Amino acid sequence: MDELRLLEIIRSCAPALHPPGLVTGIGDDCAIFRPRGGTEDWLLTTDMVLEDRHFRRTTHPASAVGYRVLARGLSDIAAMGAEPRFCLLSLALAEWAGGRWIRQFFGGFYRLAAETGTALVGGDLARADKVGCDIVAIGAVPRGKALRRDTARPGDGIYVSGKLGGSALGLRLMRGRAWQVHLRPRPRLELGRFLRESLRATAAMDLSDGLSLDLYRMCLASGLSAELDREPPVFPGASIEDALHGGEDYELLFTLPPRARPPAQFDGLPLTRIGTVREGKPGLVRYLGRRLERGGWDHFRQRR
Ligand SMILES: [Mg+2]
Repeated sequence: MDELRLLEIIRSCAPALHPPGLVTGIGDDCAIFRPRGGTEDWLLTTDMVLEDRHFRRTTHPASAVGYRVLARGLSDIAAMGAEPRFCLLSLALAEWAGGRWIRQFFGGFYRLAAETGTALVGGDLARADKVGCDIVAIGAVPRGKALRRDTARPGDGIYVSGKLGGSALGLRLMRGRAWQVHLRPRPRLELGRFLRESLRATAAMDLSDGLSLDLYRMCLASGLSAELDREPPVFPGASIEDALHGGEDYELLFTLPPRARPPAQFDGLPLTRIGTVREGKPGLVRYLGRRLERGGWDHFRQRR
């Protein structure tokens, strides 16, 4: 079973509720809630970080674990062109995680919270055999303006920010710049707002599980296929496989109208066109003329 199948089961078993104000539920980077009479939509997302799944206590510094927990949540807020406001953190602590580890964890967590103006407003604490963290991030965007993954259109250009595969490389090397990229991915909040306000992106999502899998998800949601006619930008030292299938880069994947001419860089971050959205089998991604198999990260499927 893969994650999409699991989501189908969760959705199909759900009682038919239509709470007032709910614009988008399960399936995008964030759910969208529209308060009555407001000028903003609220975005809600949640992410887990688990010991021995997402980090190892022997290799990942506590401050990086704290930073990454929040970065994962904020990346989903960035993907919709929104600004973060609040977060909630639930933390299950193992015996081994003492006061020093916890202080360093929150050092990293609060550093990113302060940099991005995200207030921690609650959460829960528990004991467990291993450390587990769950972040709920809440952001806001002008009413009706959130970037979504199901709104790409045929003929749109497909773009990515940054260089891909750095996180996968970093996890292998555990040193150098790639390791820093893996430990402290920068949520692309400014870029997300730029995509929404200035470039009028037609669709966007963050690259959390690898380009091949995330682009498939975007195409499936939009009911379209994709044709990649060039290699994605590759992080120095990483392989093309890392760039196509490696997860946790937290760059943005987005589409722009056919005639858009975006700048080559935003704030030093390259913006690269890699292909075009096409009519066709929903979810099909062709890469240099051949079908691109999905090799990205899916907890519920065997790794390649
Ligand atoms: Mg996401």
